[in-house]
Amino acid sequence: RGTVLLQVRVAAIGPDHLLVLAEDRTESARVEAIRRDFVVNVSHELKTPVGALSLLAETVQDAADDPVAVRRFAGRMQSEATRLSALVHEIIELSRLQVAGALQEVRVVPVGDVVGEAIDRARTTAAAKGITITAGGTQDATVYGDHNLLVTALRNLVDNAVSYSPGGTRVGVGVSIAEGAGLVEIAVVDQGIGIAPDAQDRVFERFYRVDPARSRDTGGTGLGLSIVKHIAADHGGEVTMWSEPGRGSTFTLRIPVARTSVADSDGSTDNE
Ligand code: ADP
Repeated sequence: RGTVLLQVRVAAIGPDHLLVLAEDRTESARVEAIRRDFVVNVSHELKTPVGALSLLAETVQDAADDPVAVRRFAGRMQSEATRLSALVHEIIELSRLQVAGALQEVRVVPVGDVVGEAIDRARTTAAAKGITITAGGTQDATVYGDHNLLVTALRNLVDNAVSYSPGGTRVGVGVSIAEGAGLVEIAVVDQGIGIAPDAQDRVFERFYRVDPARSRDTGGTGLGLSIVKHIAADHGGEVTMWSEPGRGSTFTLRIPVARTSVADSDGSTDNE
């Protein structure tokens, strides 16, 4: 199946002997192609805010005599700079995750803590839009992993649910344990705009946005879901989605359940 890339080297090692070395370069060629694509995408994505900033700087210079205009353009420069900084931050995060061994501190992580932290950080933005976030389900599930990365993953899902939902709706974060599969499932459910069927396969791609103009308004970079996908895979899990345009979306993060209790991993004795 597919194409195999072989690098073949031939050397004469005597009057009637040839040494033939064949090396399978399929995987390294694939990784190299991904890296090249990423660099092209990154340069393209950085050009937009950098170009906007330079244009705005010129405009501010031209409008130096008009304080109202200067203030307005300075405000726009500020939001472009914020966007640029978010983009650089996410590019660094994604590059770090693409390198093997991205999990810095693996320990037993209580899922309730991850959910609490991700929701807390999204609450202000949600409240400003009139969106309520609620958490439910199993509170004492634990997984093995990197606490900070798990919070980053869940936060991306909760932030998206808030960004792509109108005011007055609800976002729910539910935790359950799929015992048979040995997985903890964290589902982020929204009642937002949903995702068209033909875009559903693509949302986990780097820099893909269903509606670039809207994503730009909400400060989106198009990298959030690729970051979530990497974090899930690095934990031996996955992220999947279900969506219906106009009704909402559900993104589910599945991470293998940790069999050890938090007390055991701390080295303290369990009296039960
Ligand atoms: P962004 O930074 O643009 O939000 P993501 O990688 O997080 O990038 O998401 C990719 C695209 O998937 C978004 O631009 C948006 O079009 C779509 N999307 C993600 N989450 C949701 C959601 N909960 N509801 C509707 N659309 C979503």
